[in-house]
Formats: sequence, structure tokens, C-alpha cells
Amino acid sequence: MTRRIFVTTALPYANGPFHIGHIMEYIQADIWVRFQRMQGHQLHFVCADDAHGAPIMLKAEAEGVTPQQLVARIAAGRQRYLTGFHLSFDHWYSTDSPENTRLSQDVYARLKSAGLIYKKDIEQFFDPVKGMFLPDRYIKGECPNCHSRDQFGDACEVCGTVYAPTDLIDPYSALSGATPVLKSSEHFFFRLSDPKCVGFLESWLAAPGRLQPQVVNKAREWLSGSGDRGLSDWDISRDAPYFGIPIPDAPGKYFYVWLDAPIGYLAALQNYFTSGKARANGETRGFEEFLAAPDTEQIHFIGKDIIYFHTLFWPAMLRFAGAPYKVPNHVFVHGFITVSGEKMSKSRGTGISPLRYLEVGMNAEWLRYYIAAKLNASVEDLDFNAQDFLARVNSDLVGKYVNIASRAASFITRHFGGALRYGGDTGQLTARAAAQAALVRESYESRELGKAMRDVMGVADHINQEFDARQPWVLARDPERAAELQDVCSRALAGFKLLSVRLAPVLPAVAERVARQLFGLERPFRWSDAAVLPERVNPYEHLMTRVEPRQLEALFESDVPAAAASPATTAGSSKTAATRAAPASASASASASASASGLAGTAISIDEFRRVDLRVARIVHAEAVAGADKLLKLTLDLGTETRNVFAGIKSAYDPAALEGRLTVMVANLAPRKMKFGVSEGMVLAASGAGPGLYLLAPDSGAAPGMKIT
Ligand SMILES: [Zn+2]
Repeated sequence: MTRRIFVTTALPYANGPFHIGHIMEYIQADIWVRFQRMQGHQLHFVCADDAHGAPIMLKAEAEGVTPQQLVARIAAGRQRYLTGFHLSFDHWYSTDSPENTRLSQDVYARLKSAGLIYKKDIEQFFDPVKGMFLPDRYIKGECPNCHSRDQFGDACEVCGTVYAPTDLIDPYSALSGATPVLKSSEHFFFRLSDPKCVGFLESWLAAPGRLQPQVVNKAREWLSGSGDRGLSDWDISRDAPYFGIPIPDAPGKYFYVWLDAPIGYLAALQNYFTSGKARANGETRGFEEFLAAPDTEQIHFIGKDIIYFHTLFWPAMLRFAGAPYKVPNHVFVHGFITVSGEKMSKSRGTGISPLRYLEVGMNAEWLRYYIAAKLNASVEDLDFNAQDFLARVNSDLVGKYVNIASRAASFITRHFGGALRYGGDTGQLTARAAAQAALVRESYESRELGKAMRDVMGVADHINQEFDARQPWVLARDPERAAELQDVCSRALAGFKLLSVRLAPVLPAVAERVARQLFGLERPFRWSDAAVLPERVNPYEHLMTRVEPRQLEALFESDVPAAAASPATTAGSSKTAATRAAPASASASASASASASGLAGTAISIDEFRRVDLRVARIVHAEAVAGADKLLKLTLDLGTETRNVFAGIKSAYDPAALEGRLTVMVANLAPRKMKFGVSEGMVLAASGAGPGLYLLAPDSGAAPGMKIT
């Protein structure tokens, strides 16, 4: 059955560019959305800039522009990130819109009719220096709950408690530093403490599978109130001057930004419908009909800092506003992203710059994969660690996944003109694929992305092992075993297609290239494509490069302009040069005798070092050379080609023991004509002053053809 799903991510506040926390949330939601689309479900994925509130008003004032101009400038920068990280929102809108004004005023009027709105004079902090009531975010002080210092006036970033600014201990104005004074003003309240609200929320929270258990527990804590305090009513108005939506029939009063922001989800959806985009996306119903339909699933992805707003205020507002408004089916909450264990704060904007990530030429799909590999369905924080990032991307994506295609497709292209043919029982192959696909589907559905990635990489390991065990490089030398070679490579490529389908929600660009270029499909993959065995492949074209350590260095260098540190130019730090020089000190050679050299040689530049093309190679054949007492003739598989190399390692190795091993070769050494034949490169070995010669080998997971940097 086709599901109809409306998905949003939290609205980013339009006072600055996206930070890595936004991008992580969008990637998580985008993976889930793409997965659902691949199942054939009808999906509408929308978001908007959260444009209202005092911070934007004050920032615009400080810059001498209108709030609308400020918001427009921020909005203009959004697309670059959305495109850059392959985020497939169907629509991006703004809460400063006619739709949002109408919907917010409508929801308010309905809540008022339901008897849930009342007015009350409250004493509020007023900045005597600035001459205005202070917005919550501009009052700071100590959290009344956990006693963390310098917390904002509306909620504590440390313990997540939401409170009134007057609850803060030792408050001060963040605008002037002055101690604020209390001044009276009439405010509008949403009666969240009303027994019908509380009763509704209790049952809403109790619905099985609606929310993550940790989220339910957190919301219940607030619902029951700490100590003898129950749920507080919610102050939904702000006094002029304020950038927001006016409250009808209440001059000088505006809706607090947190009232109109979630309604902005619906306003963005409405604009998506009225603009005709929903229809273009296959939607036949109108906005209200879609919103009210019992089979429409409304799903919000948010961070753990805004649980209160999304599990208490928001469902209660929707429930008591009545049809066509409908309560969310799910609110999926994620943790924060930390960088090397350090917490990044949304409001303080620390951490990795997503724009810099793109500017230094890093591949967005690396980050998408890394985030997927580390995410699960809980609200745990996710840590970005540069070494871990490099290792996972290079070992999993390049070493395990892409490697299958580059190795198997070259045999098929060279020996069989692109035709795939399977020996034996293919029914078993497809049945196994279907079972594995069902497992991964369940993980995607429940947002256990880390598990999905582990299962996919487990299959990749299995495919690589089978491929290696059947030694296609040996089969390729024997024309009588051509059918066997074709079977081995066909199975590996069928497996690769399967992996590509399953990775498509995470790696949309790579999967699209695989579908179109390698398998000649005229459309992107669908989930069901995993079960269809491919019959042909086109010649392999490059799919993904490895992460270079210098790119990570550039990502974290804050004082160097991005362009200067881009991979195209020299990073040039002495630290880089030293790391790069290390492998060169373990030099030995093919025909030349190995000799130890002192560490203090002439320094070379990183560019000079990079001219040496070092590659991982598999020794597919090794034999003694008649008439040469030091040499072995090695046949090396470089992934896409084979080379013959004469190496002076006969004293240390039995040729048979070398076959199948991985080593390191200089791939761009000019071919050298020797007495026994042409040597097309050189393998690396280490030696010292004493006897002993040690062939270099990469760590496990490396594959033939990989570049050594
Ligand atoms: Zn606190």
C-alpha cells in the first residue's frame, strides 16, 4: 500500500548560515525520505526559514537593514548547502509569509474558541538602558533547575528545562549588561495546564511507537511537573517592538516566535501545494484535504533541544485547533553532533563549517555515509572524529564497496564485452539478496542507519571474500576457465548492484551514476531493483576517491582561506610534509639492492613527493627468473590493469608464498628494459644494516589500485 507522508526538519533560525548540526539533521531526514521514495511511497519533504522573533529584529537593526532584508539574504545562501549535500527537500519556504500569518491566526482563533486562551498581566524583565522588554534569549542567568550559568531566559541548554525568564537566578541583560527591572504588561496564554490538554497529552505520549522511549520519558517528566508543580501555561505573546505575526484584535501584541514557527511547517506545505509543486510531485489532493486525511502521516525530525515544543505545545495546539489540523504521527528526535568529543551548540555555532567542508573539495557523500554509519534511532549524540571519518570512508566506501565494481567490471569489459553470465543456481542468489534487502529495509524504516550500514558492509565483505577466494586473476590466464571467470565477476557485479540499491538513500549521486553509467538504467534505482540480476555492464568509470588527510587538515584550519588549502594546491604545512615523508624512508627496490638510508636526507616538497604514484597491488603471480639469483618476477594486479615487475627479493621470499598478497608499488616509474624482460614499476621493501628484507603491505581492507598518500 502506498503511504502518504509529510516530512519536515526543524526550521533553522534565519539569522545565520547552516551549521553542521543542521546538516546532520537534514542528512538523517533526507536518507529516510529517499528510502521511502524508493519504496514507491508518496512523500512531501518540506522545510522553511524560521524568520520571526527578537534576535532577527535586533540583528537587522544592528546591521541597518529591515528584518525582511536580513532574512532574504540568509535565505539566498541556503541552496548552496542543500544542493551541495544532496538534500532533496521538495520545498523550502519562510515563516514570514502570508500563509503562515493566516494559519497562525486561524489556529489561535480556534484555541480561543476552545477556551484555551486567556489574558493576564505579568511582570516582565525590561532593560532600563535599551528601553524595551527583553526577549527571553537576551536575558541570561543561572538555570533554576540544574544551576548551569549563562543560560538563556527561555530554556536551559544543559538540562533542557523550559522556564520563564523570571525564574533565572541572577539575571542580566545580554543587550546592555544591565540588571533588568520588572515591569507589568498584559500577555496572552495558552492553557496547557487545562485537564483536557493534560489528558490528551498523556494519551498522545502513550501511543506505542509514536515517540522514542527516551523522548516519552522526558516529556512525561515535564507533564507531571517536578515536585508539586504541574504543567505551566504557555506565554504566547510578545510586546512591540517585535518582528512577528500580529495577534488579531490586540494592538501592539505579537505571537511569540515559537507559536508561529511550527505552524510554519504547515505554511510551507500549503505554499508547496498552491505553487503547483505538490501536483507535479504526483499529489492529487488539495492542501486541506491532504492535511486532514487519516492516512496522511505527519512526521517531524528534530533535535533533542526542542523536544518540549514538539511533544507538548505542538500536539496540543493541533489537537485543540481541530480539523483539518491533525496531530503529528511521529516526532523523531536525534542528539547533537560533537566534534572530537566537544559539544557544539546551535546558538554558539562551533564545530565543523559545512560550507568549508564543500569548499575544500570534500565529497558530501562521505559525510552522508559517515553520519549514517554512526546514527541510530536513539537520541544519543554523534561524534565526528577526523581519523575515524577517514578510516571508515576509505575502508568501507572505497575499499569494500567501490572496489568490487572496479575489479570485476574490468574483467567483464576486457574478456566478455560487457556481458554478464551466471553459472549454477541464480535462484539462490536472488533469494539471498531479497532476504538481505528485507533486513536492511527494516533498519532504514526504524532509522537504525548504523545497523543498515553495518549489514550492507557485511555483505560487501562477503562479496569481496568470494571474489578473492575464486582468484579471478588466475582464471583470467586460462582461456578454458572463461565461463568460471565470467560467473565470478557476474556474481560480484550483481552483488555490487544490490549494495548500490541499498546504499542509494545514503549515496544518491554515486547510486545514480551506477544505475545509469554502469548498468545502463534510464532512471535512478528503485528498491525492487535489488532483486533483478544485471545482464550487462558498461566499462567501469571512476565512482569515488579516497579521503585525503590533507583535506581533513584543511577542514579544520580556520585561519587559512579555503581556496589556499584546497586539494588542488599545496597545504604545505611542515606537519603534512613530515607525515608524507615517512613511507619514503622505507625504500628498497626492484633490481637495485636494498640499502638503508639515514633519515636526514635532503628535504623534498610535498609536490615532489606527490609525483610518485604509489599504489596497492596484489601479487597474483610470482616466479623465479632463470639466470638471475636475486630476482623474482612478479605479476601485479592494480585493480584495473596488471603489471610485470622484477624485484630483488628472492633471498627473502618463496615465490609461492607471495601469491595473493598485497604490497605497495611505484606505479609511475618509467618502464625499464632488463636482461630478462621489461620491469613496469617497482615494489617497496624495507631493509636495515643487517640481513633481512621486508616487503611492505597495507593494512587489511586495502584493495588493489588504491592510491597511497
Ligand atoms: Zn539547567
